[in-house]
This record gives sequence, structure tokens and C-alpha cells, in this order.
Amino acid sequence: MESGVGAEGGEGGVAVVKDNHNRPSEKPWPCWSSDAMMNPPNLGDAAASAHIHLVRWPAPRPPPHRFCYCRYRGFMLVCLRRGLSLVRQNSPRSLPPARLLRDLSTTTMGEGSAAGKEAKGKGKGKAPASALVVARDDAYLEAVTQNRIRMFEEIQAKQALERLNIGGELIKITLPDGAVKEGKKWITTPMDIAKEISSGLAASCLIAQVGDILWDMGRPLEGDCELKLFKFDSNEGRDTFWHSSAHILGESLERAYGCKLCIGPCTTRGEGFYYDAYYDDLTLTEDHFGLIESQAQKAVAEKQLFERIEVSRAEALEMFAENKFKVEIINELPEDKTITVYRCGPLVDLCRGPHIPNTSFVKAFACLKASSSYWRGKSDRESLQRVYGISFPDSKRLKEYKHFLEEAKKRDHRLLGQSQELFFFHQLSPGSCFFLPHGARIYNKLMDFMRQQYRDRGYQEVLSPNIYNMQLWETSGHAANYKENMFVFEVSDRLRKAEHERCSFSS
Ligand SMILES: [Zn+2]
Repeated sequence: MESGVGAEGGEGGVAVVKDNHNRPSEKPWPCWSSDAMMNPPNLGDAAASAHIHLVRWPAPRPPPHRFCYCRYRGFMLVCLRRGLSLVRQNSPRSLPPARLLRDLSTTTMGEGSAAGKEAKGKGKGKAPASALVVARDDAYLEAVTQNRIRMFEEIQAKQALERLNIGGELIKITLPDGAVKEGKKWITTPMDIAKEISSGLAASCLIAQVGDILWDMGRPLEGDCELKLFKFDSNEGRDTFWHSSAHILGESLERAYGCKLCIGPCTTRGEGFYYDAYYDDLTLTEDHFGLIESQAQKAVAEKQLFERIEVSRAEALEMFAENKFKVEIINELPEDKTITVYRCGPLVDLCRGPHIPNTSFVKAFACLKASSSYWRGKSDRESLQRVYGISFPDSKRLKEYKHFLEEAKKRDHRLLGQSQELFFFHQLSPGSCFFLPHGARIYNKLMDFMRQQYRDRGYQEVLSPNIYNMQLWETSGHAANYKENMFVFEVSDRLRKAEHERCSFSS
């Protein structure tokens, strides 16, 4: 038995696949599973509504599909993950009454639907220039920046001196092909070795690995070691490239808006990066991207080095004293943790690294999306603004990526489905769509086809709940890796009570 999870699109789920013959299908056909809770509550309890959840197996990140049944004024709501259709509960052949459908359709492009937001945005056009003006406290920003840089340089100078005293001893550096290079302890860096091999290699290597630790190209080696070098075409190189680009984004955001930076990782979906920051009342939109990107270009043109220092907990707390988010992170670090701080240009940031050698490697940079988020993903904490970005070592790849996004947009099933009148969205269920007759027919055909495939391949369907206690995802590790993309909600007292009653009844 295997399980897969669909965390894309803000929802997750579990696949439970049963093979009668206890063997995986050898046919190149996807195996599907479904699960359901067959006692539908009223629409008012939509969060606990019945579900059948389908995910592809054994693909590791399948697109999740689901449908559920809820009773609503004598109708049965049948909804897919991105859709909801109405059928009469006691009369399966009758169509939903025109009035109910019309009432729902009049607000099809409601606030809750992504398409609705897009349509509204188009109607509004560009935001007025006044909306982009930010009351930035330049004096504060300058003082904070200068203070951090001063502390960074002092600690850096002290550490450089210490290394000078303990360094210089000859060390052996073994490359993957078995070749051995000589270097000097605490002086020779992976970049020195790359240059020794070829200038082309030095110009394209982004990150090194010393033993099993990823290592900045400019960080001195501390003893005999095995050394690997990575370019953008490797996972290590790409992740480091995008993580470093997040620093460029953070620097741009701080310079442009004087925000308080929170966290800036590469995305868990494996493409690009984002930076969360606190802006007081400012809400970022696409209209702000021009300024952010021009700040990023400035940082790239300055060829800012990514420099690393190790700091004590007290030094870290002093350095980021005015940023309560960073202070919270520092205070939660384990006692024995080595705290590292990186600098690129005016940005001094708390980060474990590693990073690319300098900002000039990022030849192409673009902002993709702005959205809001909560600090630590908790709705009772500060509301933050998140900017997503993408970057590449050349502009050709960025052009191709943007073209790909444009093409994907044209094929967006949420828009195609509406233009072909297969389904529509409604604010009552912003994450799902309402299936219209033709859409419902297609859906049912697919379901029939899928179920036939189960039977042909010796599988049985099983039914299991769609909503789980967070404990499951913590155990599986999904919460740690995909929480930002999961749909998480607090269970109200009412639902807890309902669950309890159901349990009592069944026992
Ligand atoms: Zn970093």
C-alpha cells in the first residue's frame, strides 16, 4: 500500500490504494484512489462536509481532485475540488431550478474566486501613482542599515584576524575525479580551486560541497576535505541561486519600502523564491513590481559579495534589535547552534546560508506575484506581505519561463471551463466551482472511466476522511515541508461538538 499527497493549490489529501493481488500495476496507467465520508451534514457545516478525495498514485505530487455531497434546500451539492454542481436529491434526473442557478451565476465572479479577482483587477487598470507612495522613514532605515553594517564589519575584521593566526597550514583537497589539490587551511576557498581548474568553471560555479556540507564558494576551507562544485543545472546550484535571489529581493524591499524583513526562502515547489516582510498598512500589488525590480537590478549591477560571519547570540540580538521577527527567530535557536549572518551590499541578514559568490550571477530577475501571509503561518499573528520572484543566470531563460507562464495561463482550466460554460465559481465556495450540465457530464464520464480502470486492474475503492487532524501531517512530514500550501483551519467548538456526537453515536 502506498500513499501520495496533493498539496498543490492549498489543499492536501491522502491516497489510499488497495491492490487485491498485493502488487503494483505494471500497466503504464495511473492508479487512482478515492475516499469519502458518507454522512453529509448541512451546508452550514461546509467545513465538515462529506468528501471523496482522489489523488493520483504513485506520483509524488499529484493534482488533487475531490467531490463532496452536502444537502442544501432539498438539493444535493456535488462538488469537485475546483467545482460544485447541483443535483436534486430525490430526483436525480431533474436539473437544478433555473432560479437557483441564476442566483448563483449572478455572482459567479465573486470576490472569492481567483478569476474574479483577475477580472476586477483588469477593470480597475493601474493603481494611481499616489497609491504606490510609501511613507518610508529614511532616517530610521539609514540608521538601522549603518548600525548593522558597522557591527558586521567589526566582527568580520576580528574573525579574519583570528583566522590569520590559526591558518596557513597545508591541506589536501580531493575532487570527485580523485584529483588532489593543495591549499592552505583557513585561507584557500572553493573559488580558488575552481579558478585553478579553469576560469570558465569559476565563472559558472555557484556553490560547493565540503564533505556533506554545502559551502560558500568564498568560505575558507578548514582542513583536508572532499570538494564538489555545483552549477545552476544541479539542484544544489539552483536552490542556492534562488535562495540568494531572495536576499536580493529582501534588499530591494527594504530599500524601497523600509519594511521589516521576516523570512525569504526558495519555494518548496522548487521554482523561484519569496520574501515575507512586515509593512504596516501598505499592501503590495503588481504595480509595485517595477520599483522592486529596478532596485534588484541595481543590486546585481553592484556585484555585491555574499559575505559570511559567525556571531554570538548576544551579537545577533543586538544586530537585529529593532526587528522583532528576527529577534523571535534568534531566541528560538538551540543553545548550541552556530548563528551566521550574511551581508550583500546594504543588506545584513540572519541566515544559515550558503549563497552564490555575488549578486552579478543573477542576470535576470522578475517579481511574479504579491500576496499576504501570516507570521509563522498563524492567523492570530502579524499580517505580512509576500512577494514571489524568479531569477535565472541569463535573460533567455527568464524569457522562456515567462512565455511558459503565459501559455499556461491560456490553458488555465478555471478560465477555459467558464468560457465553455462547463462550470462557474461562487463566493459561497471560493475554492471550488459549480459544475453546469456539460461540465457535469464530462466529470461523470471521467469518473466512470476511472472506476472501470480500478476494476480492470484489480483494485478496490476505499473511502476515508478528507479532513484530518494536523497531527497526521506532522507525523508524515508534510506539515514541515508543505504547510504554506495546505489549507489549514481552526476547528470551531461547534464542529468539535458535532464530531464528538457522531463518535458517541457510532460507538
Ligand atoms: Zn540566505
